[in-house]
Formats: sequence, structure tokens, C-alpha cells
Amino acid sequence: MQVYGLLGNPVGHSLSPRIHQAAYREFGMDACYATFEPEPADLEAAIEGARALGIRGLNVTIPFKRDAISFVELDELADRIGAVNTIDFDGDRPTGHNTDAIGARRALEHHDVTLDGARAVLVGAGGAGRAIAFALSDAGATVNIANRTESRARDLATEVPNATGHGLSDLADLLTNAEVLVNATSVGMDEDDSPVPAETLHRDLTVMDIVYHPLRTRLLRDAAERDATTIDGGWMLLYQAVAAFERWTGQEAPVDAMNDALRAEIE
Ligand code: NAP
Repeated sequence: MQVYGLLGNPVGHSLSPRIHQAAYREFGMDACYATFEPEPADLEAAIEGARALGIRGLNVTIPFKRDAISFVELDELADRIGAVNTIDFDGDRPTGHNTDAIGARRALEHHDVTLDGARAVLVGAGGAGRAIAFALSDAGATVNIANRTESRARDLATEVPNATGHGLSDLADLLTNAEVLVNATSVGMDEDDSPVPAETLHRDLTVMDIVYHPLRTRLLRDAAERDATTIDGGWMLLYQAVAAFERWTGQEAPVDAMNDALRAEIE
């Protein structure tokens, strides 16, 4: 049996097992996806132990995404982002990848959003915001990053090509001419709140919220009311799993089956 899994703490509410197991079922694979909660001090031993046991691949989530970079060979994208959410054990040394960035880009592309040449506004400069900033920039967008702590947005913008850093008070100006808005803050999660004033949204925007609990966040409801195109946080979650599955197996993922399993849990 092929074993895959997730390293994090806590991981009890993760949707990843359902999404990946749907893919194994669809392809009739003799595989399973388990969750592991090592203590932070045991992270290196956990990764080395997984390699020794023949585990094929691990996802990595909070609080290990940054620390894991010390114990794997980073690909170029994960190296620039400075965080890993996928480890591949196929080779002499485990390799680390960032499919959050790939997932965000594929979620936008799935909805026919053209990023090359687009003016994008990214709200949030935390872990997910960092990955998405590089993804948008790599795809050819101009990335205007707005964050509650402005210095964090400015710092990130110095690392990302074609990016600028701002405080949230610049959002109205930034959004006037933007085509893409991504919320990468945790605002809207488990609360009916939005980081973006509703009156700054308009019909020429595509708005992606990466918060997926709830799916229809206040931001997405405000955007829909102003006839903007909306993309919920389930799409990035789906496509980061799709990218991990494809890296581990070398096969094109059964996206529809994985999406059905995800939607059965979160809709
Ligand atoms: P993080 O590193 O803790 O960053 C949190 C971000 O939210 C920071 O930019 C922070 O601003 C901002 N923020 C928090 N509270 C705020 C408030 N009251 N007003 C304005 N801004 C606020 O977290 P993360 O790992 O990036 O995750 C962020 C969200 O993305 C979470 O909801 C997570 O579940 C979601 N996520 C979704 C996916 C997916 O696949 N859909 C993947 C990863 C993460 P400051 O810098 O000022 O603190």
C-alpha cells in the first residue's frame, strides 16, 4: 500500500484526507492518506522517519510550513516563498514544494482569469499571502499588496517582482483600476466580516477569497451584490491538493472526484 499523509498540529479538522482518498478511490489505487501531529521539536525526526518508512509524500501545514524547509531539498518556488506544504520522498533526499502558490494560480485559471498583465490586489501578507504574491507575480500580474500591518506588506513587496506594499487604507485607490482581488487574510473565517469595504468592489473585478469556512464569506457576498465574479476558498484548497497528488503520482489528478469530495464536506 502507498502511504501519504499530512504533518501539522492540530490536523483533526483537515479536509485533505477526504480529498486525497477520493482520488485513490477514483483510480482504484491501493493507497491511504493519514494525519500526523508531531511535536515541533520532533519535526526533523518525523520527516526522516517518514522517508525511512517508505511514505511516498506528505503535506505540511501549520505550524510546520516554514520550519520544514530546513529538512528538505527545496524547489525554486518553495525556496523563494520560504515555505513548504508538500514533501516528495521520491529520490535520495526529500524535496519540498509549495502547492499553495500553484493552487491559487490554478484556481484563478480554472475560472478563466487572465493574470498576465492583470492588475491584482492582494489583501494579506501572512503565510498564504506570501505564497500567493509570488504566484500572481510569476503569472505576469502587477501585485499591490495591502495588509493591516503595512510594514509587512512593504517588506514582502521588496521580495516580489512587480509588487508594491500598502496599508488597508489604500484599498479604495488600489481597487479602482484592478481586475483581480484576492483575500489572503483570515478575516471572514468563522465571523461575518470582510477586510475590504463593500463600496470599493465593482463589476470588473474577479474576487477570490481563500477563506473556506464559511464558503460564502461576507467579502464574496458583497462582491456578488456588485456583480463581480467570485471564486470561493474551496478552489485553492482543491488545486493545492491536485498539484500535490500530481507531483507524488506523476498522473493527472481526478479533479472532479476530488472536488465532489471537498464540496460534500464544506457546502
Ligand atoms: P497568517 O500567516 O496568520 O496571516 C494572517 C493574515 O491575516 C495577515 O496578513 C494578518 O495581518 C491578517 N489579519 C488577521 N486578522 C486581521 C484583521 N482583523 N484585520 C485585517 N487583517 C487581519 O495566516 P495564513 O496561514 O496566511 O492564513 C490566512 C487565511 O488563509 C486563513 O483563514 C487560512 O485558513 C486561509 N488559507 C486558505 C488556504 C486555501 O487553500 N484555501 C490555504 C492557506 C490558508 P497582520 O500581518 O497585520 O497580522
